[in-house]
Amino acid sequence: MSRGLGRVQRAVLAYVRSEPGGRSAIDGTPLAASVTGLARIVYGVEQPTDAQRAAVRRAVRQLEVGGHVDVHRLPVGRTYTQQRAHPRFWPPRYDRRLAVCTGKDGCPGCAAGDRPSKYFTADVVAMFIEHFGSLAEGDRQLWRATAHGWHLYPVPLPRPADDYRTYEVEVTELCVRRALTEEEHAQAEQRAQEFIRPHVAALRAALQGR
Ligand SMILES: [Zn+2]
Repeated sequence: MSRGLGRVQRAVLAYVRSEPGGRSAIDGTPLAASVTGLARIVYGVEQPTDAQRAAVRRAVRQLEVGGHVDVHRLPVGRTYTQQRAHPRFWPPRYDRRLAVCTGKDGCPGCAAGDRPSKYFTADVVAMFIEHFGSLAEGDRQLWRATAHGWHLYPVPLPRPADDYRTYEVEVTELCVRRALTEEEHAQAEQRAQEFIRPHVAALRAALQGR
């Protein structure tokens, strides 16, 4: 049955057949081992590398195709926090940015789809002085803008900090146990039924007592 399997596949199969996690108190089936736990055993290391874990995952998938193991993705008791944007209720907000066109490929204004303007009216001069904060700097930028024009283009404002929420995300991993026989499946089903029967009876009694 195990012939033709690679070294990692054989090691994984031998380990899960030893039922390393023991058996479920509920239905009596062998508990699953995580890919990380398997990689520790197969490679004899405390911290398996990504490559080692990938090799074990590959072996597990091949064993699954061969009908040797049952594979599930299960929580492994660890979480990590993630920042995610709150569902957006408001349209994005924009600021307007005044910039001298560089006339080159990487010009941000051109990239934003704005055609450079070559108008230089009193209003434009006033806008440059206000935007760049001083007469000297406004004048310097205006002079630069005479080469390729200037852009006034919208840029999206970053979301406010309270637009984000922190979520706890459960870490899941591929978990593996040896494949059950038909008979074991039937027994497990029966044990699970027996396990929940008293709970169902208690629930019925509570509902009738109301
Ligand atoms: Zn430009």
